[in-house]
Amino acid sequence: MKYQSTRNRALTASPAAAVLRGIAPDGGLYMPEAIPPVDWQSLIKEDTLTMSARILSALLPDYPDMDALVRRGYAGKFETEELTPLVKVGDRYVLELFRGPTSAFKDVALSLLPLLISEARGMEGIADEMLILTATSGDTGKAALEGFHDVPGTRIIVFYPHGGVSAVQQAQMVTQEGGNVKVCAVCGNFDDTQTGVKKIFAACAEKNLPGVRLSSANSINIGRLAPQIVYYFKAYADLVRSGRIQVGDKVHFCVPTGNFGDILAGYFAKRMGLPVGRLICASNRNDVLTEFLSTGVYDKRRTFYKTTSPSMDILVSSNLERLLSLLTEDDAYVASLMADLNERGHYKVSEALLTKLQAEFSCGCCDDRAAAETIGKVWTEEKYLCDPHTAVAFHVAEQFGKTCGDGAPVVVLSTASPYKFPAAVLSALGQKVQEDEFSVMEDLHACTGIPVPRNLAALREKTVRHKDVIAREDMLSYVLEKAGETQW
Ligand SMILES: *Cc1c(COP(=O)(O)O)cnc(C)c1O
Repeated sequence: MKYQSTRNRALTASPAAAVLRGIAPDGGLYMPEAIPPVDWQSLIKEDTLTMSARILSALLPDYPDMDALVRRGYAGKFETEELTPLVKVGDRYVLELFRGPTSAFKDVALSLLPLLISEARGMEGIADEMLILTATSGDTGKAALEGFHDVPGTRIIVFYPHGGVSAVQQAQMVTQEGGNVKVCAVCGNFDDTQTGVKKIFAACAEKNLPGVRLSSANSINIGRLAPQIVYYFKAYADLVRSGRIQVGDKVHFCVPTGNFGDILAGYFAKRMGLPVGRLICASNRNDVLTEFLSTGVYDKRRTFYKTTSPSMDILVSSNLERLLSLLTEDDAYVASLMADLNERGHYKVSEALLTKLQAEFSCGCCDDRAAAETIGKVWTEEKYLCDPHTAVAFHVAEQFGKTCGDGAPVVVLSTASPYKFPAAVLSALGQKVQEDEFSVMEDLHACTGIPVPRNLAALREKTVRHKDVIAREDMLSYVLEKAGETQW
C-alpha cells in the first residue's frame, strides 16, 4: 500500500514515511491509494483493542506488530478497557471519547501516534531523534505531552499562548512529568504561537538541525486519523450487542467538528464497509462548514468568534481536503481548490461534487446560548452532563431528528469531559461561577454529583515543572538551544 499527496498522486510515501513526515512535500495531505475494505462483520465481534489493531494494520500494513503497539499505547491509560463507552441518553446515544488520560478526545489518537512515529523511525532507519513541536490553544498540548513523554527516540516541545489557555489546561501542561518534554509559554495569542511554530519548520527545512528531525503531532498526520476510525466500529458493535440494531442496519453519527478529523474518520469507517448512515457535521457559531455543506462555497473570509467550545473555533478545516480527494479522485482539481483557498480565501466546488457531499453529510450549527440551553435541558431531563462541544452536537442531532430522522439510531460523539470546561457548564446549569477555576470544578461536582476525572482532581497538588515564558520572536532560538542540549 502506497500513500500519495492529495494534490499530486506522483508524490508517494510508504505508510511509515507518511506517518513520519506528517504533511506531503507539496503541502498536500497523505492518503492511501485506496481505502482498504475490512471484514467488518467479524471485526465488530472483537474487543476494542483487537478492532484497533486490525483496522490500523489494514491502513498501515508495513508495521510488523500493530497488535503490540496498540496494547502498549492504550494499556492502563483509559478508564476502561473498551476505551470509548457508548451511553444511552434519552432516545439518543452518546459515544464518550474523553475517558483517556487527559479527559479530551485527542487522547484516543495521541496515545498511539507517538508509538507509530517511534516505530516508523526504526523502520525507516533514522538515527536522528524526532523533535515534536506543537502549538496548542489548550487541549492538544496536554494530550500530546501525555502521549510522547518517555517514548524512546522522541522529544516534544509544546508552546501555548501566555494567559491564553484556561487555568486547568495550563496546570495540566506545566505539571507534565517526563525526561523528554518541555512546555513553554509564548507572549502573544494562539495565532502568534502557531505562526511561530510554522516559521520554525520553514527555517529548519533550509538548514537542518544536526541529529534532530522535526515533526508535528497535529491532526493532519494520517497516524492521528487512523486510530479514530476504531470507535465508529466500536459504537456499532455496542448497538448490535444491546439489540438496538441488527447487523447491517444503518447508524447515524453526529460529530462536533473543528478540523474535520473526527468526522472524516467516520467516513473512512463507512468506506471500509461499516453501515454508517448520515454523518452530521455540527459546528458552533464559526459555521464555515455548515455554509460549505449547504452551498458548496468554502469561504474563510469571515469574522472569527471565540465561543464556549474553543476546540471548534476554526475557520480552515484542514482535513476537509482529504474528503474532497476521496470524493473526486482528482488531484489536480483538489490542488486548484486549495490554491484558491490560499490565494483568495475561498473556493466553490462543482455541482457534481456538492451532490456527492450532500449524499453523505448533513450539517447544522448552534450558538453558545443554544449550547448552554442544551446542557441545562439534557441535565434536567436525563441527568446526563455534557461539555459545551458535545452540547453543540447534541443540539444539532435534535434538529436532525426533527427534520429527517428515519428511526435509525443517532450517536452523538462526546469530545470532552464537562470538567475541562467547568465554568461554561456550571453557568449553563444556572449556578453562580466563581473566579478560581478549581473551585468551579468543585462547585460543579457539588451541584451534579458527577465524579471529577482523577487526572483533573489531582492537578492542584502537582508540582509545577515548566516555567519558561518567552517573547514570540525568541521561539526559534529557544528550539535551537533546547535541541542542542543532550539532557533536559
Ligand atoms: C479537537 C476537538 C474537536 C474537533 O475535532 P476535529 O477532529 O478537529 O474536528 C471537538 N471537540 C473537542 C473537545 C476537541 O478537543
